[in-house]
Amino acid sequence: MAIIEVENLTKKYPLPDNKSESFFAVDGISLSIEAGEIYGILGPNGAGKTTTLEMLEGLTDIDGGTATIDGIDVNNEPYKVKEIIGVQLQANEYFDSLSLLELLTLFGALYSREIDADDLLGKVNLLDKAKAKPANLSGGQKQRFSIACALVNNPKVLFLDEPTTGLDPQAKRNLWDLVIDLNNAGMTIVLTTHNMEEAETLCQRIAIMDHGKIIAEDTPQNLILQHAAEPPKAPLHGNIEDVFLTLTGHGLRD
Ligand code: ADP
Repeated sequence: MAIIEVENLTKKYPLPDNKSESFFAVDGISLSIEAGEIYGILGPNGAGKTTTLEMLEGLTDIDGGTATIDGIDVNNEPYKVKEIIGVQLQANEYFDSLSLLELLTLFGALYSREIDADDLLGKVNLLDKAKAKPANLSGGQKQRFSIACALVNNPKVLFLDEPTTGLDPQAKRNLWDLVIDLNNAGMTIVLTTHNMEEAETLCQRIAIMDHGKIIAEDTPQNLILQHAAEPPKAPLHGNIEDVFLTLTGHGLRD
């Protein structure tokens, strides 16, 4: 059953060098994401991935088309949608004086929820840091804490925008394990990433975006079979990075 349905979604922004003209940052995309799926959106910088997520999260107005999450129309009922989604933002600013435990309790209160902050910290493997301040966490710990914050309302759908950018390999693996655990517990996860191994490891399906459009969507294995240049007798020689480069032609621009 699809939990996220997107039809012909568009977002226009003014052109940077001529503000009286606009361009489609998201140009009529349609998606159907299954409940319980880990779904990845890949694409070069500027492809429209973040804008797509922000529209689904109710953080950016939708210019055209429709999006529903668990049957709730994102455009008409943004607050109802916010109750069932968790959003991990790329850069989080927290109150410096509060500990992780206090911050989670505060975020729970904002949702009018009594939360078990210890349980949440345990989930993201930060129980031993309960009394620490966010400023004193490592990069990987900060990312895991921002996921804990996104979990305070026990969301059905979790959005992760480049969750492992800048993390060392161990911290990255820890975060992958967390994503897999959450997914095993039934959570639908939508993520963007520039890390092809991450997409290939975590995602059941991948959409590749370029210039505001989805140019391919399938399981990692099918994408590789269809698009990665491979020697004739080794059909799975290529990987998702080959698919990405074949389809978008201009590689990663971080
Ligand atoms: P991605 O996440 O794939 O890197 P974005 O969704 O951030 O891409 O951006 C898509 C396009 O929209 C880019 O050309 C970007 O410069 C433009 N854009 C994003 N946000 C805004 C904004 N608030 N105002 C004007 N243009 C924007």
